[in-house]
Amino acid sequence: MGNLAGMTAIVTGGASGIGLATAERLTGEGARVGVLDVNPDAVKDPMTGFYCDVADGASVRTAVDRAADALGGIDIVVNNAGIGAIGSVEDLDDDEWARVFDINVTGMARVSAAALNHLRRSEHAAVVNTCSIAATAGLPQRALYSASKGAVLSLTRAMAADHINDGIRVNCVNPGTVDTPWVSRLLGQADDPAAERTALNARQPTGRLVSAEEVADAIVYLASPAAGSTTGTSIAVDGGMQELRLRR
Ligand code: NAD
Repeated sequence: MGNLAGMTAIVTGGASGIGLATAERLTGEGARVGVLDVNPDAVKDPMTGFYCDVADGASVRTAVDRAADALGGIDIVVNNAGIGAIGSVEDLDDDEWARVFDINVTGMARVSAAALNHLRRSEHAAVVNTCSIAATAGLPQRALYSASKGAVLSLTRAMAADHINDGIRVNCVNPGTVDTPWVSRLLGQADDPAAERTALNARQPTGRLVSAEEVADAIVYLASPAAGSTTGTSIAVDGGMQELRLRR
């Protein structure tokens, strides 16, 4: 391996779950990796953690510049930090809508904007956003979360158009349900966690949850020079959940 030798990457939300698996895969491919997270102390060598709240512009600009200095530039941005929201439009108030959009959507725009001048100096610049199947399929009790991920999908395409002449590719991944600490927290809140896990497994045609490493591999591909002609698109990593209709 080592397809990313000499390259540098920042990963938001890289202290846990999909972001952590991505930071580890990028490191394994030879990249120098900075993790931007509200929980940077969880980041282990050889990755470097930087405190960053993607909902705070000053925090984002400071973290991106510190990471660029420490790594020697930025070739790859993985916009992965995100939070969930459960409920229909009746259940969540305006403050919660603003908070989730601020982190899940505006956060990606903030980090990208702060990194753009670094990316423009790269020979192989790429942005990869962590979107979701919630952007492309109607899931119950996920109105706000789905709307935020729909915006991420649109943002991905718009950014790809805006920055193609800067030599910056922009793509996203659409995971199904991924076995991360996030989902463990959700299962922990269920009345019957084992039954809930069985139901989530059954929702995916493959009959199992997606692993964080499987999502990370798709992100690393989109970030790598091997995907040099791929921009403005999404890769589903969802066990067939979006496209397949099986008879049970
Ligand atoms: P996770 O909870 O395991 O990790 C999220 C990370 O983001 C944590 O390290 C957390 O500290 C960090 N974070 C949270 N708010 C932040 C903020 N304001 N600024 C900076 N960092 C912040 O979650 P995960 O399951 O790995 O999810 C990561 C991404 O994948 C999210 O964007 C999520 O929407 C998306 N996703 C997850 C699933 C799933 O089933 N787990 C499915 C589709 C998409």
